[in-house]
Amino acid sequence: MAAKKKPFIKFQCATCKEVNYFIKKSKEKAETKLELQKFCKRCRKRTAHKETKK
Ligand SMILES: [Zn+2]
Repeated sequence: MAAKKKPFIKFQCATCKEVNYFIKKSKEKAETKLELQKFCKRCRKRTAHKETKK
């Protein structure tokens, strides 16, 4: 019953801290921290989204 590592990464708005996106990450890029410009529903504009881990 080994729990598999989930490759999904949460992307959180840097402005309001809302988690807006879930991205499936490949193992090759797993050690790279990503930052994306994405539309935030709460901010109603494009903001920087940073990956966050539990
Ligand atoms: Zn936001």
